Amino acid sequence: MIWNETMECMNREDMRKLQGIRLRQTVERVYHNCEPYRKRMQEKGVSPSDIQSIDDIVKLPFTSKKDLRDYYPFGLLSTPMSEIVRLHASSGTTGKPIVVGYTRGDLAIWDEVGARCFTAYGLGKQDVVQVSYGYGLFTGGLGAHGAVETIGGTVIPMSSGNTEKQIMLMRDFGAVGLACTPSYALYLADAMRDSNISRDEFSLKVGAFGAEPWTEAMRKELEAKLGIKAYDIYGLTEIIGPGVGHECECQNGTHLCEDHFYPEIIDPETGEPMPPGEMGELVFSTITKEGMPLLRFRTRDLTSLIYEKCECGRTSVRMNRILGRSDDMLIIRGVNVFPSQVESVICEIPELEPHYFIVVDRINNLDTFEIQVEVKEEFYSDEMTRLLDLRKHIVHRLQSVIGLSPDVKLVEPRSIERSQGKAKRVNDKRKLS
Ligand code: ADP
Ligand code: ZN
Repeated sequence: MIWNETMECMNREDMRKLQGIRLRQTVERVYHNCEPYRKRMQEKGVSPSDIQSIDDIVKLPFTSKKDLRDYYPFGLLSTPMSEIVRLHASSGTTGKPIVVGYTRGDLAIWDEVGARCFTAYGLGKQDVVQVSYGYGLFTGGLGAHGAVETIGGTVIPMSSGNTEKQIMLMRDFGAVGLACTPSYALYLADAMRDSNISRDEFSLKVGAFGAEPWTEAMRKELEAKLGIKAYDIYGLTEIIGPGVGHECECQNGTHLCEDHFYPEIIDPETGEPMPPGEMGELVFSTITKEGMPLLRFRTRDLTSLIYEKCECGRTSVRMNRILGRSDDMLIIRGVNVFPSQVESVICEIPELEPHYFIVVDRINNLDTFEIQVEVKEEFYSDEMTRLLDLRKHIVHRLQSVIGLSPDVKLVEPRSIERSQGKAKRVNDKRKLS
């Protein structure tokens, strides 16, 4: 099912025209209402009249997370504070959080794009959806919440944590949909297995998982463990929150709501646009938002875009799975390593649980690279020689995928800390020194 056929299935030429008009309006808005944007555009010698079509977007300056921090909390608003009806902030592990303000119109856009997501997952009026993303300043909970209400479904505003109650209500209220991070879904799946409640007492059919990178291998794992279809939902606070993009029944790329958020892929080193289809850093311009529009915001997320029409009928551009954030990339002994690569190897080995933790350190000027991974109950009690063989096999697979041989530590089932929100899978001790 498609929530907004006009927008989601528009032919590409009309879409580009519409994007051009909306970009021009947004540029006018920020130029006249937001001092930092005006200054930046003047420095670059661009004025709103230079933006005649969407192709002119490359003339505009970039914005970055740093700008949001520099103008903390409200310096990038393009409306008076009296028009702002909601604030959210991203967790930001260091220093000041990133704050965004929404007008009523912005909340309506958020509900609209969220409704497109949950409709694409096959959910509707008749469905109960448990929202187990955290509620609060984090956009996950309230974002998914608004989306479910907009499609007319029944939302259980569960938030994260309190696993026993999660499972009880999921069963008692007949939740068909579950919205949470993929790592928390995995945690819930294990807890459901251990709960003595049989699988057929649950009505769960669909997962809306996102807020952190996850792999195809993790999808298979979650679909098998929970007996559901697991769909991607993508978003970021700066742009609006979850709902910037979503998968459809084809599970073949994440459709972006490009009539609201215009995507580009640039070379992260030079800032130059990449040729269509190539991998690079994802950049978004919001072209309808009022409160805090962002022009050419550098997400740091690495991916590529697919412009062909999807088999589901939507023409909206699709994004391939996010490899990771450029700032999550580890450089170990000079080799670029993404946690998602480690995850895909771990998920393909049947003796392992998809729970892992990476520890990187520097000892005597040499990088150390350790991966702790849980072995399934039935194998952990195995003979020593079989465990040693398993270890060798993992090192060998990792070596061929990432080009490095980590020190693999096989650990007991359930010994790696579980996450109820975004997973923390890396401890890079080098950053501390
Ligand atoms: P924070 O920056 O504090 O983590 P956000 O919730 O705004 O707060 O995080 C947005 C980021 O989360 C995205 O830029 C991306 O890196 C990641 N993310 C969100 N959804 C997905 C997804 N479906 N797949 C991969 N990464 C995702
Ligand atoms: Zn599709």
